[in-house]
Amino acid sequence: MKEFEYVRAATVSDALSMSGVGDTAYLAGGTNLVDHLRLGIKRPDRIVDISRLDLGGVEETADGGLRIGANVPNADLAADPLVRQRYPFVSEALLAGASGQIRAMASTAGNLLQRTRCVYFQDTTTPCNKREPGAGCSAIDGFGKYNAIIGQSDQCVAVHPSDLCLPLAALDAVVHVTGSDGDRKIPFADFHRLPGDDPSHDTNLVPAELITGIEIPPLPWAVRSHYRKVRDRASYAFALVSVAAAIDVSGGQVNDVRLALGGVAHKPHRARTAEDQLRDGPATAEAFEAAIDAELAAAQVGSENAYKIPMLQRTVVAVLQELVEGANR
Ligand SMILES: Cc1cc2nc3c(=O)[nH]c(=O)nc-3n(C[C@H](O)[C@H](O)[C@H](O)COP(=O)(O)OP(=O)(O)OC[C@H]3O[C@@H](n4cnc5c(N)ncnc54)[C@H](O)[C@@H]3O)c2cc1C
Ligand code: SF4
Repeated sequence: MKEFEYVRAATVSDALSMSGVGDTAYLAGGTNLVDHLRLGIKRPDRIVDISRLDLGGVEETADGGLRIGANVPNADLAADPLVRQRYPFVSEALLAGASGQIRAMASTAGNLLQRTRCVYFQDTTTPCNKREPGAGCSAIDGFGKYNAIIGQSDQCVAVHPSDLCLPLAALDAVVHVTGSDGDRKIPFADFHRLPGDDPSHDTNLVPAELITGIEIPPLPWAVRSHYRKVRDRASYAFALVSVAAAIDVSGGQVNDVRLALGGVAHKPHRARTAEDQLRDGPATAEAFEAAIDAELAAAQVGSENAYKIPMLQRTVVAVLQELVEGANR
């Protein structure tokens, strides 16, 4: 492990001024960063510990949405009464991730910024464009089971690993950040990047920008929402595919729907084609199946990850049907 300097910030402005030195990394819960320091994936000159900053709390906003502090632990967010009542799939997604101990350490911002679990990214003996731009991508002709099926490039075929990010994408969450040029708000759809010709950047944050919180807009019908994760074993595993869905249905018609897919792309994939097709149409299994078929029409698969298409089809239809049956009860 490369030697680095450790400093602890007491305030947000401290953190910003401390981060102006060489290659700096913020440390929140450390559940991803510390692994990367040990593996030699991340080799910063300085670590700025932001875990004691006053960036906690889950609060209702004036318009009835929620503002979540960047440092709120995943376990606390999952257990928050407002989150559980209003956005149950946020809580379900968090509880589907990692383990109780890790969720107690992991922060909300860190969850958004966790890096891919591509096996080659984590193995520093293999070429990887994300770790070392220009080195090549070992996954393209290598182990392909987890590879992306939408939005991949000839530079990177990795998927985003977060569960939490799926309901946040479906809810049009907004990421609040601050940096040397002041504060800004980034719509969730613009926060993460597709790999294009530079997979080394996962997000559109600029260097040393700090996430201060996440805002979830109000969506009263998200009380009818669900997150389902399909994985190799029942717990402590990342998603093969996952689905975050919320639906507003009455009289057998879909009034509105939100759908995001995991295990699919380099960023949380919002299924807008399927949503558009479903809106104002029948709330039937046939319609759900046709909508997800339309969403995945452009997917590009190989022999090892082709299973993701039928797995997503079955999962989306099952989740939406369960939500509709719940609404009819
Ligand atoms: C064994 C294991 C299993 C896991 N399983 C799952 C799973 O099934 N599903 C899932 O979604 N996740 C899973 N995770 C990932 C886990 O959710 C993340 O490691 C965690 O959320 C990261 O949060 P952290 O606070 O520990 O981040 P850290 O490790 O402290 O930081 C992660 C990154 O975010 C940056 N960062 C942190 N906070 C800020 C901020 N406020 N502003 C700017 N940058 C910041 C850091 O610099 C670093 O680059 C697993 C992790 C482990 C170790
Ligand atoms: S898929 Fe991306 S992360 Fe994996 S080896 Fe290729 S460049 Fe690296």
